[in-house]
Amino acid sequence: MVARMLFRAVIMGPPGSGKGTISDRIVKHFALKHLSSGDLLRLNIQKKTEIGILAKSYIEQGQLVPDDVITRLIVQELNNFGEHNWLLDGFPRTVPQAQALDKAHQINTVIDLNVPFQTIKDRLTARWIHPGSGRVYNTEFNPPKVSVRIFLFFI
Ligand code: AMP
Repeated sequence: MVARMLFRAVIMGPPGSGKGTISDRIVKHFALKHLSSGDLLRLNIQKKTEIGILAKSYIEQGQLVPDDVITRLIVQELNNFGEHNWLLDGFPRTVPQAQALDKAHQINTVIDLNVPFQTIKDRLTARWIHPGSGRVYNTEFNPPKVSVRIFLFFI
């Protein structure tokens, strides 16, 4: 019997490098499971889970969620994917997270997005996030239907 090789990929790059957009395209073409740490945290915040409540306090201060908290959340979710192929986005972000991931799963592909700093700056200047839903807008090519700044914050 020939063992099927599982696709275990990580996409890396700074905020605004297009990880989410490119991940969406890759998962559509190759039928992979997509796990975004930021999306998962926002879902937990929305559902007011214990992790969500804790994560909110860090995210609102522009800080990273502690390694042990995010690692437990992500590794558990990846384990739930079982034998599916997957693409991980937003994790790892620190050396301890990378070490924990390496222990838990064998990664065989890393996509590193190399985008000029000025392009990232331009994109982030135009990016707005609706805190309630976590939806991401861009004032140039994907503006919110209702432009009420009080409901949106820049990230
Ligand atoms: P993102 O949507 O990937 O920009 O993530 C939004 C926020 O969630 C980040 O600014 C962090 O506060 C938190 N976060 C996401 N991924 C991680 C991670 N791997 N480690 C720690 N915090 C994270």
